[in-house]
Amino acid sequence: MDKSDLDKSIQYIKGVGPKRYQTLKRLGIHTVKDLLYYFPRTYQDRSQIEKISGLEKGVTSMVKGKVFNVKSYNTRGWRNIFEISVADGTSILLVKWFNQPYLNDVFQVNDHVFLYGKVSVYKQALQMVNPEYEIVSEEDGLGESVAILPVYSLTEDMRQPRFRKLMKQVVDEHSHLADEIFTADILKKHKFVPITFAIKNIHFPDSFDSLAESKKRLKYEEFFTFETAMALRKRNIKEARGYKFRIGPNVEDHIYKLFPFKLTRSQEKVIRDIHEDMCSVRPMNRLLQGDVGSGKTVVAVYALLAAIANGFQTALMAPTEILAEQHYRTLKRFLADAKVRVLLLTGGAKTKLRKENLERIRQGETDLVVGTHALIEGDVEFKKLGLIVIDEQHKFGVMQRTRLRQKGRKPQPDVLVMTATPIPRTLSLTVFGDLDVSIIDELPPGRTPVETYRVTTKKQNDAYEFIRKEVKNGRQVFVVYPLVEESEKLDLKAATVEAKRLQDEVFPELKVGLLHGQMKSNLKDKIMSEFINRKYDILVSTIVIEVGIDVPNATVMAIEHAERFGLAQLHQLRGRIGRSSHQSYCLLFGTPKSTESRQRLKIMLETNDGFKIAEEDLRLRGPGEFFGTRQHGLPEFKIGDIINDYNILKLARDDAFKLVNESQKSKTSKNRMLLKRITENFKHKLDLINTG
Ligand code: ADP
Ligand code: MG
Repeated sequence: MDKSDLDKSIQYIKGVGPKRYQTLKRLGIHTVKDLLYYFPRTYQDRSQIEKISGLEKGVTSMVKGKVFNVKSYNTRGWRNIFEISVADGTSILLVKWFNQPYLNDVFQVNDHVFLYGKVSVYKQALQMVNPEYEIVSEEDGLGESVAILPVYSLTEDMRQPRFRKLMKQVVDEHSHLADEIFTADILKKHKFVPITFAIKNIHFPDSFDSLAESKKRLKYEEFFTFETAMALRKRNIKEARGYKFRIGPNVEDHIYKLFPFKLTRSQEKVIRDIHEDMCSVRPMNRLLQGDVGSGKTVVAVYALLAAIANGFQTALMAPTEILAEQHYRTLKRFLADAKVRVLLLTGGAKTKLRKENLERIRQGETDLVVGTHALIEGDVEFKKLGLIVIDEQHKFGVMQRTRLRQKGRKPQPDVLVMTATPIPRTLSLTVFGDLDVSIIDELPPGRTPVETYRVTTKKQNDAYEFIRKEVKNGRQVFVVYPLVEESEKLDLKAATVEAKRLQDEVFPELKVGLLHGQMKSNLKDKIMSEFINRKYDILVSTIVIEVGIDVPNATVMAIEHAERFGLAQLHQLRGRIGRSSHQSYCLLFGTPKSTESRQRLKIMLETNDGFKIAEEDLRLRGPGEFFGTRQHGLPEFKIGDIINDYNILKLARDDAFKLVNESQKSKTSKNRMLLKRITENFKHKLDLINTG
């Protein structure tokens, strides 16, 4: 047997017939190696079998017993319950599965079963609902001898015992062939177990210690491979040719004159980073992080104007149309005194107008194009694109960035990515791992931290009184409504009805305005400027005001049904106030119903720190939800978890970047060999990341 046996098709393995071969393929397992790297989803601890008589309510436990009763029945109307009774000589346990009627064909009286699940009490009897189960039969072959049993993610036509048996056979025969990619140095430095040990123990651990060691090593390996790809990608970008802008004192003076305030030390520092990037012949690839209201737009304006002053076209890309429009308006305001031709290009624009706009962009008759993802659609062609600013809101992944980059002909345009909310550190190592990072870590001067309060139904009138008092003191108030049932129409209705109610019943003596997403852009503008000019005391709005709106005199942000908003949104909304020297207040109305929504509100009460909030948001919702889109460019890890394994991720990242840097410096180093091994071993994966 040799290494190439690992690449052998799984169909040549004993016990894999044509049918099982198809099933395995569906699981993504084609070769012996694929199978070895198909890691368990979880484990059952058979060394810890409990007596049924000793089970405790609420504790997840493992029992072994004999089935003495089986029944399947339907409850009123809609669901099937499959039920077995199990005895182990000490007591009996009732076991139920909901809506899995096929189990009726799986269990039989007198079967011996392992059951693993949470114990509950039903009508004074002990029970488990939907436990993991395994029927112990002769064909299992390892039921009694193995103490920690792997549990795999499988399809219905491949059951655990079958799969385990196949795995056991392949691990016994082939795991010693697994390729060690790490040098002895690295293994020693991190005290890693060898790969052959790790593969064997990830499937059939000798002990929980061995399992933990194996997991750690395999997670590191997975992250390390990924981060190596990131480092290579970053190096490729660095090696690419970009534009070398000239940004002299004259240009800078000109730009600074447009800002009605003195920049913060943080903004200055970030602008120095950007200045250096832009004046280098390498393309800029920078992530700009900063909390809501920290003044990122100003920094973006600097970069845009600097590129335009060099005779280039620029693009600003936002995740939604509303945000694109908002940016467009802000920029127009900033650029009122500069001779810059700005154009808004959205997917929604009428075909004729869009055609004209596209022509302008192609002819170089426009300096700054603001838009959504429509900007990366095939028909947009720039004459001379020098800089792209992406306002990301976590919504675009690596892929989209690559696509946009290709819009410019050789040399490559500079790219500045801004995030509307801070990015959890774990994501800045993965999705954004190929970017240089600049952080604005202070707010413009004269801001007082916003105070945040929950308003329960009982306290609603007190809150209204409070609002009245603020208005009496000359301040203004936002009242925000959530999206109802994902429908803009209902959303609009709720806000409209509420605006009327507030005006007629609660605040008849005050002026209440209404703003929503379905208004034409110039009407939105009109209402906003009316609000700024204090034509209204209270502005009732849908989520349109989430980003970009700036009314320093507003000191109250009242959020209705706060439990329906995500943390990032709540934080954004709160960022709309606290923009002057007056104390500001965020009032969270509504009744949280789930634990998660309760936690969200709790976090809002605890901190104003956007970085902390982002971490919590990611932790609560998980990466998929956090991004809210499938096209997030988030890598899929088999065993590593970017949130829970952050420390390993960080370690792997540092090592991988060091490796790529050092291998570049010295052609003969050991590191170079390692890099070569990794690129050979994981070629298809690396390609995937590198070509975007
Ligand atoms: P972000 O995009 O980071 O949320 P903005 O760029 O919208 O923040 O800036 C928030 C507000 O602060 C805007 O009203 C902006 O004009 C103002 N601002 C930005 N920088 C400064 C500064 N250095 N001094 C005073 N105000 C500033
Ligand atoms: Mg902004």
